[in-house]
Parts: sequence; C-alpha cells; structure tokens
Amino acid sequence: MNSPTKITIARGDGIGPEIMDATLEVLAASGANLEYEEIQIGESVYRRGIMNGMEPSAWDSLRRTKVFLKAPITTPQGGGYKSLNVTIRGALGLYANIRPCVSYSPFVATKHPSMDVVIVRENEEDLYAGIEYRQTQDVTQAVKLISRPGSEKIIRYAFEYARANHRRKVTAFVKDNIMKISDGLFHRVFDEIAAEYPDIEAESMIVDIGAARLADTPEHFDVIVTLNLYGDIISDIAAQITGSVGLAGSSNIGDQCAMFEAIHGSAPTIAGKGIANPSGLLLASVMMLVHIGQSEAAERIHNAWLKMIEDGIHTVDIFKRGVSKARIGTRDFAANLVDRLGERPATLVPASYPAGVASSFSGIALKGAPAQTKKLVGVDVFLERKGGTGDDMAALFQPLIPAGLKLVMVSNRGQKVWPDGAPETFCTDHWRCRVMADGADELKHGQVAELLARVAKEGLDFVQSSNLYTFDGANGFSAAAGQ
Ligand code: NAD
Repeated sequence: MNSPTKITIARGDGIGPEIMDATLEVLAASGANLEYEEIQIGESVYRRGIMNGMEPSAWDSLRRTKVFLKAPITTPQGGGYKSLNVTIRGALGLYANIRPCVSYSPFVATKHPSMDVVIVRENEEDLYAGIEYRQTQDVTQAVKLISRPGSEKIIRYAFEYARANHRRKVTAFVKDNIMKISDGLFHRVFDEIAAEYPDIEAESMIVDIGAARLADTPEHFDVIVTLNLYGDIISDIAAQITGSVGLAGSSNIGDQCAMFEAIHGSAPTIAGKGIANPSGLLLASVMMLVHIGQSEAAERIHNAWLKMIEDGIHTVDIFKRGVSKARIGTRDFAANLVDRLGERPATLVPASYPAGVASSFSGIALKGAPAQTKKLVGVDVFLERKGGTGDDMAALFQPLIPAGLKLVMVSNRGQKVWPDGAPETFCTDHWRCRVMADGADELKHGQVAELLARVAKEGLDFVQSSNLYTFDGANGFSAAAGQ
C-alpha cells in the first residue's frame, strides 16, 4: 500500500465539529488512504487573541500538506475580526472556488429536477479584498479590485474545467453596464479567452437577469464563471434550489494548495442539536479525494451517498413526507452511509471519476496584455463638507486650483452637481472635485501635490485623491452620472 496522503483538517465552529466527525467516519470506512494533521481555527483561536484566526503552526501544516479539509467557521457581522476564509483563500493563492449544484430529483424535492450547474467563483479579489473606509461622518466606501491576471486565471480555469469535465457551455455573469471599467475588464478577458476554446459555447449575461434566470431555469446553465461577490450569492441560491444549501460541497484551488469545504456556514442556530446535514462537507471530501488522486475512494463514497439519497434516508433539511423514508440525524447519517459503501444508485446517475477528470490545471499561464501608454490627465479630490450645493463647492474649490489645471466637474455620490446640477439631487457630506489638465494633454504629479497643498492650507478636509489616467488615449476613469 502507498503511504497515506497527509491532509490538514479543522473542525471549525457551530455545526462544524458534528459534520466533520460524520465525514471522517465515512472517510475511514471508505478505504481512503489519508493521515490527518488537525489544526484549530475560528472562534476559539480569536478568543485567545490571535486576530487572524490561525496559529503560525497551523499555517505551517497547510504549507506542508497543501490540502485542507475545513469545516465552516463563524465570522461576526458588521465588526470584529476579519473572515478567516477570505484570509486563507488570499494567503494561499486559492484563486478558483468551484461549487457544483446538482438536483437529486425525484428523491430530494426541488422545482428544478434536471439542474446540474457548476459555479466557478473568483476567489481572491473584488469587494472581498476587504479594503473599506469610513471617509466622512456620513459616507463609507468599499474598494472593488478587479485585475487582469485575476480575471485571466479564473476564466481560463472555467474553460479548462469545462473541457476536462465534458461540459458544453461557460456563461459569464457581469455587471458591466454599470461598472464599465472593472466588470468591463472581466468581460473583455472572458471574450478573449473564450475565443481560444471554440469547442465550448460561451455566453455572457448581466448578473441580475442571469441570477433571475438561474433561479427560474437553471437547466439553461452549465458552467458559470463570475466575480467573487456575485459567485458567493448565486452559489447559495443555486445550492438552495437543488433542495438545500446543506447539499453542496466546494473546492478552493490554487497553484500550490487546495482547500475543500461545504458552501454553507456554521449554522449556529442548529449547532449541537445533531440534525445538521453533513453532505456539503462530505461531497467536498469527495472533491478532495479526486484532487489527490484517490478517485476509487471518491467514487465509493459518492455512489453510496447517492444510494442513500435514493433510499430516502434524509436529514431534516431535505426530509419531505411522501418522498423521504426516514428522518435521520448527523450521526446516523454516517452510519447509514458506511452501510452502503460499495453500493451504487439505481436511478440517479452514478458518480464516475476516470483519469483526466481534473480539478486543478497546472498549465494556467497568464497571457497578459501589451503595456499601454499611460498618461496622468487629472485628479479627483474627495472632500468632507457638511451642507451646501454643488455651486457652493465649486465656488470654494476653484480659487485653489494652480495654473495649468481646471475644475471640470463636482459630483456627490457619483452624481454630477456642478456645472448645471439638478436642484433635486440629494447631497451628502462627501464631495468629489474633478480637476483636469488645462490645455496640455498631461499633468505632473507635482501639480497634484501642489493642488492638495493648497486645499490643505485652506483648511478643507480632503479625504481621498484618485489620479485620472488615460491608456493609449482611452479614459481609465468613469464619468459622473449626468456628466
Ligand atoms: P449558514 O449557511 O450557516 O446557514 C443558513 C441556513 O441554512 C440556516 O437556516 C442553517 O440552519 C441552514 N443550514 C446551513 N447548513 C446546513 C446543514 N449542513 N444542514 C442543515 N441546515 C443547514 O449561513 P449563515 O447563518 O448566514 O451564517 C452563519 C455563520 O457562518 C456566519 O458567521 C457566517 O459568517 C459563517 N459562514 C462561514 C462560511 C465558511 O466557513 N466557509 C460560509 C458561509 C458562512
């Protein structure tokens, strides 16, 4: 027998320990050849004052084993420590989050009996970069970061995944009718990369109608690739409409490491009651076994699980009178599944993981784009000021502008309020004054510094400044609404 593959596990918070115990019981009986390094993460670690939620020795374990089976953890809302999930994904470069959402009709009640959608979610950037500011008394800001390499990697991953897993179509969800620069970059890269995969159909949709269609007609979709926040939201919707959010597992894949987890959270309201459905973490462990090349054990577990679903042995979240045969708790789930190891479903399509069905693709190379000529053409200065109109702000700001620059626009929450503002526009205490080169086609950083020095001398509170660039002559900044 080969030596066991070492993996790192963490039991997490809430229902985490219960569903991890059930999963480990099944793994032990399945013939999977594994050895565990257990680490502590989540609330207990934060309570010891380790604010990134993980001891240095736990990071060492992840770097050593490179494979992490993780139960959900609790992250406080609206304050407190940052999400450890986001930290782990970013720190280990786990750029691709794969979330298969499959219906098990007629054995699990669903309005969408033939649904089989894989969501490929970008995992490192977007609003999840967690760069947020409170800038004024009234206004907060979150920065949405979308990069070309980040977009290339996830989109190419989606097409490689589709090809390796015999999928026919990849759909991109974007919102580039509004976020023309950030989502626009993702869409442009999608079109470029899609052209390299003529064997796979490619389409794109605006995320709002895409999400509506996904909830209504999931059969339309096959693989969906999208940005971090949209992917987080639509994968919960997709999992829920298969029957329960408790059914879906996920993988987080990077070039060196991978993490496997349920898509749901720590479900604190049902923790300790012994009723949680371990299926999400269990199916994540199946994805892990495929990833480490133990496909036989993966198939055994997955098929026994499908058989159990067919037999109507269901946890409370998917139990339905008339469809289900027995309502079981978390511990009985594992025992019932172990009893079925070696069996296959009779009606549902059996799982099959032949060689070549891959979850990580070592050849994801970055294509990049030729460098473009970048010119500094202006600056947006953001100021805090209570009260007044756009005309008042312009009158205050204009005398401060050095020669060679001119004020072209004032906006409030992205809406132009000078020149020719609408009297109806509601204004907060957060103003943006856009200053551009006057005459010359370029300005110098020193001119921006001089402008800010004058603003400071006048005693105005500038809370942020953002340089405005063109790239090969095209604006690298958005216009204000109404401009
Ligand atoms: P949740 O996914 O924990 O729960 C949502 C609903 O689904 C609840 O009604 C819950 O009882 C039910 N549910 C979830 N998993 C279930 C299962 N396995 N079996 C049966 N029912 C299940 O979402 P939430 O309540 O928004 O979040 C709770 C905590 O989990 C929060 O602190 C959140 O930050 C965290 N969270 C962690 C992860 C992760 O660790 N990857 C992911 C999402 C949320």
